[in-house]
Amino acid sequence: TLHQTNLTTAELRAIDAAHHLHPFTDTKGLNAEGARVIVKAKGVHLWDSDGNQIIDGMSGLWNVNIGYGREEIVDVVAQQMRELPFYNTFFKTTHLPAIELSRLLAEVTPPQFSRVFFTGSGSESNDTIIRMVRHYWAAQDKPGKSTIIARKNGYHGSTIGGASLGGMTPMHAQGGLPIPGIVHIAQPYWYAEGGDRSPEEFGLWAARELERTIDELGADTIAAFIAEPIQGAGAVVIPPATYWPEIQRICRERDILLVSDEVICGFGRTGEWFGCEYFGVQPDIMAMAKGISSGYLPIGGVMVTEKVAEVIANAGDFNHGYTYSGHPACAAAAIANIKILREEKIVERVKSDIGPYMQKQWLALGDHPMVGEARMVGLIGALELTPNKKTRASWPVETGTVGLIARDFSFQHGLVMRATRDTLIIAPPLVISHEEVDALIAAAKKTLDDSW
Ligand code: PLP
Repeated sequence: TLHQTNLTTAELRAIDAAHHLHPFTDTKGLNAEGARVIVKAKGVHLWDSDGNQIIDGMSGLWNVNIGYGREEIVDVVAQQMRELPFYNTFFKTTHLPAIELSRLLAEVTPPQFSRVFFTGSGSESNDTIIRMVRHYWAAQDKPGKSTIIARKNGYHGSTIGGASLGGMTPMHAQGGLPIPGIVHIAQPYWYAEGGDRSPEEFGLWAARELERTIDELGADTIAAFIAEPIQGAGAVVIPPATYWPEIQRICRERDILLVSDEVICGFGRTGEWFGCEYFGVQPDIMAMAKGISSGYLPIGGVMVTEKVAEVIANAGDFNHGYTYSGHPACAAAAIANIKILREEKIVERVKSDIGPYMQKQWLALGDHPMVGEARMVGLIGALELTPNKKTRASWPVETGTVGLIARDFSFQHGLVMRATRDTLIIAPPLVISHEEVDALIAAAKKTLDDSW
């Protein structure tokens, strides 16, 4: 097989270019340049096919929370695949990994949550949520409560349902999105949209967009509000402290289900197990994926309160599910991952040790002449790049997308960062060491110097 051959990087790239259509990629541009071929990983490091060692400052796609190369996970998955590689959870059957993982999730999630519906990814979790919240109200003789409110620039996945919930215009430009019954309101992006208002005032204003929208459409037409605690793909938008408590008040007073999309924030990223806990709110439903298994195998889930579970249980068949809902090997990987997070106190370490250690250095990058704002919570952060710190202006179009240019410099300095337009994003594995943080920050500084 390919990984055992001695093909050169150029030969590997040529095969990839001929046969592989990549997600979220300008294929022509990629083929001209050639894809980076990643061949192995350990801890927080990746190696490419030319032997370069790179710090993975993005934890894969914000998911490899416990880092790469944990043999315990490999062992339990191999054992599970020998014993029962697959069985389903449809039609009155279950299996040991699904049983154990559901109990474990009830333990590590906030106290209001008791049951999980298994999916294969974050997109599937959010597709399930669209159906679930509408079914929830219809089962209580309120079928009119069906509209879902989400946010501009939010990201909830790439399926038709997930991308419809998302508020990214380039995604809506393709494939006939969004589906009906989804409304998007303002995002709490103070740096970009706050104007003269203080962060606190702006947070309240953005939350009250929800109130205004519900009252305009009528609470009897609204099923749920969904949002990421911190918008990840939308440029790590950390809402002002006033935002989430106000959102919760509005949802409670108007009998609207509050859904937290924890696909990125869940499983320790913010220094709490879930992002909603960081912001002190109690949602009714959570979407989960990514960090649930640290990416060792694909799995996701929708966590619900006992009340939501009961309504669904009392409504007869829930005509929905995926062949791989609760896949035994994937569930075994998630169990092993959650045990590592718990036993090694990785989440607590993000809160009280490595998080503050990295935040101090990351926020200091805000002094660079090119950085308009540095922000970070737990181990998720961003740098807003600008030619003018005062006006927060963007570069002229001819300059190109500076974030993307900087991201490429960062790779040359041995660090993976992500970029959205003029923002650089960081979300390293939660197990990163102090020395590795120092190396990451040094590479980020060189990146800024080179891009400036
Ligand atoms: N929700 C959020 C907040 C995400 O960040 C993502 C992916 O980045 C998704 C959902 C979609 O997850 P997946 O790519 O596993 O389908």
